[in-house]
Amino acid sequence: MINFNVPPFTGKEMDYMKETIENQKICGDGPFTKKCSEWIEQQTKTAKCLLTTSCTHATELAALLTDIKEGDEVILPSYTFVSTADAFVLRGARAVFVDIRPDTMNIDETLIEDAITERTKVIAPVHYAGVGCEMDVIMEIADRHHLMVVEDAAQGIMASYKGKALGTFGDFGCFSFHETKNFSMGEGGALLIRDEKYIEEAEIIREKGTDRSKYYRGQVDKYRWQNYGSSYLPSDMNAAYLYAQLELAEEITQARIDRWNQYRELLAPLEKEGKIELPYIPDYCSHNGHMFYIKTKDMEERSRLIEYLKKKEILSVFHYVPLHSAPAGLKFGRFHGEDKYTTKESERILRLPLFYKLTADQVEYIANQVRAFYQ
Ligand SMILES: *Cc1c(COP(=O)(O)O)cnc(C)c1O
Repeated sequence: MINFNVPPFTGKEMDYMKETIENQKICGDGPFTKKCSEWIEQQTKTAKCLLTTSCTHATELAALLTDIKEGDEVILPSYTFVSTADAFVLRGARAVFVDIRPDTMNIDETLIEDAITERTKVIAPVHYAGVGCEMDVIMEIADRHHLMVVEDAAQGIMASYKGKALGTFGDFGCFSFHETKNFSMGEGGALLIRDEKYIEEAEIIREKGTDRSKYYRGQVDKYRWQNYGSSYLPSDMNAAYLYAQLELAEEITQARIDRWNQYRELLAPLEKEGKIELPYIPDYCSHNGHMFYIKTKDMEERSRLIEYLKKKEILSVFHYVPLHSAPAGLKFGRFHGEDKYTTKESERILRLPLFYKLTADQVEYIANQVRAFYQ
């Protein structure tokens, strides 16, 4: 059976985790957390990276930093994972969903401005499949309307838009290191902070509302309760696991991109025949091989293809029931404008297996089976 996902593993994880245990440094903000954060800061060229317990928590932390309040609105796509909305809704905000572009499955930047009201506080674009949203346009709209931008870059590490890392355009960017992502620590994430002025407040909220980070750096002689907060820091054992993968980040990313390109090449004839559609990557976006998907004619054909592939020992999946039509979406949000693509495209998308150790032979086998289905 070819699984849909196999969590990345490089071999060094055990050694590094063992090191944290032997050195009795397993709580948060230990040596590996520091290494990971510094690595991410260098790779993305952002002012600050704070490791968190998940991307969901990174987004919650970002929502707290935007000071979003009850009745405020956040503009986001409906075609996304629940966390993008949860973080803001948890603070009493309303989710205002706008349609996606069918080519990249990202928020349609041309529809954002019309959804802005006097209550709008934040725009939360999602870089689907590690392919950048139109950040030039989004940032220009945000600046003109004095809105904050929180990027859901859960799938976006090692990917860029016009040469700049995803997650570094908005006020805040959020990465995920869940086991389904390109690099993993089991559960984990990171908050990227663009402007230094937010660093101190972010550190405080992440550490239960205290200035313990300053205390550890020897900048204050005792730490005290400074603000509201929570506990968003992961154990250094998890960070150790992640660091083993960050060390091989280039290699892991390249392996995924190679398999991605191979899928694309082998399935191009089916696209030419008009049987399926393949992902589109704008010239100025450099993606990270996070996801390979195809689009079938409709939901019925997709279900048959999933069954067909399962019989050939291949697990393929789809995701994201649009948030606006889900029970919580109806309660906490509204769709602005017409749902031209969100529902329709979400019913056609099918994700094929893609993970670090997936082999070229396996990709060839999978592509052959997809082609066989359409013969
Ligand atoms: C995975 C994912 C998340 C959530 O990440 P966690 O680390 O599991 O909290 C949020 N948004 C998107 C788009 C994701 O793909």
